[in-house]
Amino acid sequence: MSKELLRVTNLKKYYPIKGGFLGQTVNHVKAVDDISFAVNEGETVSIVGESGCGKSTAGRTILRLEEPTAGTVYFDGVDLTTLSNKQLRKTRKNMQIIFQDPFASLNPRQTVAQILQEALHIQNIVPREERKARAIELLETVGLASHQVDRYPHEFSGGQRQRVGIARALSLNPKLIICDEAVSALDVSIRAQILNLLKNLQKDYKLTYLFISHDLGVVRHISDRVIVMYLGRIVEVADKKTLFDHAKHPYTSALLSAIPVPKPGREKKRIVLTGDVPSAIDPPEGCRFHTRCPFAAEKCMEDMPKLRPVPQTAPGHYSACHFFEEIYKD
Ligand code: SF4
Repeated sequence: MSKELLRVTNLKKYYPIKGGFLGQTVNHVKAVDDISFAVNEGETVSIVGESGCGKSTAGRTILRLEEPTAGTVYFDGVDLTTLSNKQLRKTRKNMQIIFQDPFASLNPRQTVAQILQEALHIQNIVPREERKARAIELLETVGLASHQVDRYPHEFSGGQRQRVGIARALSLNPKLIICDEAVSALDVSIRAQILNLLKNLQKDYKLTYLFISHDLGVVRHISDRVIVMYLGRIVEVADKKTLFDHAKHPYTSALLSAIPVPKPGREKKRIVLTGDVPSAIDPPEGCRFHTRCPFAAEKCMEDMPKLRPVPQTAPGHYSACHFFEEIYKD
């Protein structure tokens, strides 16, 4: 059993909404609303959900790129929420992030050599005279050529830029990498190459991934475990196989039914969700999914379901649905 690397407990991120004559706080956007989970060393845990479910905010809040409203984030036994900025900077070298849009996250006025050396300079982990060689080594590690090190980001294709983003994340030998929609902007064939690269790097560098994506096809390829979020809360958690074969939450079932089936004649029955995702400012009472759930009953409108173990599948499978036993009895 591998060691626990990350433990997130009761994490909340609320954004105040200012209004009124004096500009006081009149409400909050509850982007992340009381989520708890753990990630073990060497694991890939994915967070999935529609746009606006809070998954990216969760990733950014874990790294304290956004300050949490409440909750704790233990990384390697240290509560990140209590660290000073100086202590946080030191710890951050062990936790890196890869963003969706590599072009936006790479400084267009810096060469790749400068981009990769910058992090090494800030953390001062490689002597100055060795930094360029380290930058070249990193480029080669992610499948780019050493002669590309003096090029600017605009001289690379989208897939190559994402490789540079990965090289930058790797530069400080992190333990954890948060991949925030890291392959969403890429063409399908390039996406597969980057996913394979991430998998290989995980083996070689003993990396742990928190993989944030709206795309269940991608999540199926890379994950060990999957967390499904809806409107700021976790609605289901399971290992990948259990989640894809035995989902026990109507929202997860709807997401799974929308994945295209490659074999003709084996189409699945698509569960089409009606209505839009409600606002995170005034989320529905009770089960947040009740306004779109085909199985909603009166209890769903009053009581918020808690994550409960699903006894008939696998250990570690939890669903936040009052009625999963009845809905999935066959
Ligand atoms: Fe649907 Fe009710 Fe279950 Fe929520 S608790 S997912 S509304 S059946």
